Amino acid sequence: MIIIGGGASGLIAAITAAKAGQSVTLLEQNSKIGKKILVSGNGKCNIDNKFISTDRFHSQNPDFIKEVLEGYDFEIVKKFFTSIGLELIEGKEGKMFPMSLQASSVVELLEYEAKRAGVQIVCNCAVNGIAKEGDTFKLETTEGTRTCKKLLIASGSPAAPQLGGSNSGYAFATKMGHSLIARYPSLVQLRSDENWVKSCAGVKVAGLAKLYANGEYITEKKVIFSLPTMASADLPSWT
Ligand SMILES: Cc1cc2nc3c(=O)[nH]c(=O)nc-3n(C[C@H](O)[C@H](O)[C@H](O)COP(=O)(O)OP(=O)(O)OC[C@H]3O[C@@H](n4cnc5c(N)ncnc54)[C@H](O)[C@@H]3O)c2cc1C
Repeated sequence: MIIIGGGASGLIAAITAAKAGQSVTLLEQNSKIGKKILVSGNGKCNIDNKFISTDRFHSQNPDFIKEVLEGYDFEIVKKFFTSIGLELIEGKEGKMFPMSLQASSVVELLEYEAKRAGVQIVCNCAVNGIAKEGDTFKLETTEGTRTCKKLLIASGSPAAPQLGGSNSGYAFATKMGHSLIARYPSLVQLRSDENWVKSCAGVKVAGLAKLYANGEYITEKKVIFSLPTMASADLPSWT
């Protein structure tokens, strides 16, 4: 079995599949796995939340979210991380972090566990194309051609391209006959013409954000602004 992508999804899938008896090779284009994990939660990795519920998600298809969350159990997630040696601690609003408060602990333990389960991790190996011949997947990579009977695409989203974010998985999935729905960024920086914002770097403010389009009021929401950007794991919308 081949897994494309050594992020959080690919690593956990690799560990799970290897423990279920699969022979797993994980291909990662970066020189290291888990680069996006390393920056998550401002380097502390907000790994989970105790109070995950459907009303924290925004979707045109709420039934899908409901279905996914029905299969989610905080205790199972916690048990998984504890089983690989990662103790979790609780922060504000039920946010869970590694006890070390270092995202690097998460990457190191996932890598250790994947290798312990027999996963072969191949870095600096970008998949450029896939094709299916009979029941065999053929992958063209920067390190030559690879074949497998089972293929899992875990190549993430285009968010943070400097960390490996790419659209390639969408293209592979489409080529294999899957359909895509429109995708939108859900956590973005806000830009402002106001100069005072810059001098407030690092300050967090609980406030009310109102959304207007062409002068017309659309909606409003209580949020915690982390100035000068909103890219913070402390935003309540993480769950
Ligand atoms: C700044 C920032 C902060 C964040 N903070 C949090 C947080 O606190 N809590 C939280 O829950 N989430 C957080 N997130 C979101 C979280 O990091 C992502 O949801 C998660 O890492 C996605 O994991 P993934 O495995 O699906 O994708 P990725 O982590 O994107 O992994 C995909 C991997 O596939 C590789 N890849 C892509 N294409 C190819 C190819 N063709 N061939 C080979 N390899 C390929 C990429 O290099 C990458 O390593 C944050 C994200 C960012 C950018």
